[in-house]
Amino acid sequence: MAGEQKRDYYEVLGVDRNADEETIKKAYRKLAKKYHPDMHPGDKDAEAKFKECSEAYAVLSDKQKRAQYDQYGFSGGAGGAGGFDFSNADFTDMFGDIFSDFFGGGFGRSSRGGTSTARRGANLRARVHISFEEAVFGCEKELELVLKDECPTCHGTGAKPGTSPETCPKCNGKGRVVYSQQSLFGMVQNVQTCPECHGSGKIIKDKCPDCYGTGYISSKKRIKVSIPAGIDDGQSVRIRDKGEPGVNGGARGDLLVEVDVARHPFLQRKDVDLFSTEKISFAQAALGCDIKVGTIDGDVIYKVEPGTQTDKQIRLRGKGVPSLFNKNVRGDQYVTLIVETPTHMSEEAKETLRKFDELTDNSLNTPVEVEKHGKEEKKKHGFFGKKK
Ligand SMILES: [Zn+2]
Ligand SMILES: [Zn+2]
Repeated sequence: MAGEQKRDYYEVLGVDRNADEETIKKAYRKLAKKYHPDMHPGDKDAEAKFKECSEAYAVLSDKQKRAQYDQYGFSGGAGGAGGFDFSNADFTDMFGDIFSDFFGGGFGRSSRGGTSTARRGANLRARVHISFEEAVFGCEKELELVLKDECPTCHGTGAKPGTSPETCPKCNGKGRVVYSQQSLFGMVQNVQTCPECHGSGKIIKDKCPDCYGTGYISSKKRIKVSIPAGIDDGQSVRIRDKGEPGVNGGARGDLLVEVDVARHPFLQRKDVDLFSTEKISFAQAALGCDIKVGTIDGDVIYKVEPGTQTDKQIRLRGKGVPSLFNKNVRGDQYVTLIVETPTHMSEEAKETLRKFDELTDNSLNTPVEVEKHGKEEKKKHGFFGKKK
């Protein structure tokens, strides 16, 4: 329906904007009967009209959707979020309800397949713990999972060989039952999953002895998972067709394996970049020297420039994490150099440092002048100048 100008839903059904539920339902039944594809085989125009009115009804018959439509129109607000996408809409609910009266209940099931429709199996989720390095460089893991497979004895029907499942008498195979209730506002219809067949529409009298009527056999399977380089904590790897089996010949669901990445002793990760800190001595910072820096690839030598200040961040290009999209492209590692102040110095070292200070900016013997409440206060720095 993309790109086409849509007609207003009220206009499609030919009802007033204030029309009540009953009026909308009546209008829809009339149109649906008129344009139903079974009445016009091969007529594309009728089919389009039928779809159009069904879509309008799907929205206007649902209080929440109608309110949304009244407020936002087709798009459902910003960016189409909450909008109505009918490309995959399942009208079975509505058809089962509306058409059961005048098509003898079989409608909707026969043309759309109903419970015999092939349905894709559900996705399964699993978690795998990996080390920090395994996430960076990728790895292979083997998972042990309990997977369901179609029972070979009954081919998934759940019925004992030689018998077949019977149509559920409670819901006539629809899998849903409609309860009508008289309320202040008229008849209210509630659709519920059939309690007899739990929505399958079928009852198994003689259960298959191998799968106890479930149609599935569960078994432990070992599954190899290829974890790509660059994966991050909380991301998942999708393994096609290792989920739950499909229904009525539908495809299997997928297996989604979420990775739980361990911490690294000294590296922190942010996307493709790594961060670490490296302590250097005052002398190393002042005079410059080669230091050893730990990276994910092992230690590297880095040349600290003379006169390096504390908190200086250096960048090691290409020492980060490979991009998930191209493992030849790697992020960088940022190393923050922390200049450490010496502690526990020997008397000789202290004396040498005092001499050093005298030779440089003589900071220990420079008077400190502080403006305090207009008065000038003089204090001498250093050993004897400390405030009590
Ligand atoms: Zn079986
Ligand atoms: Zn049933």
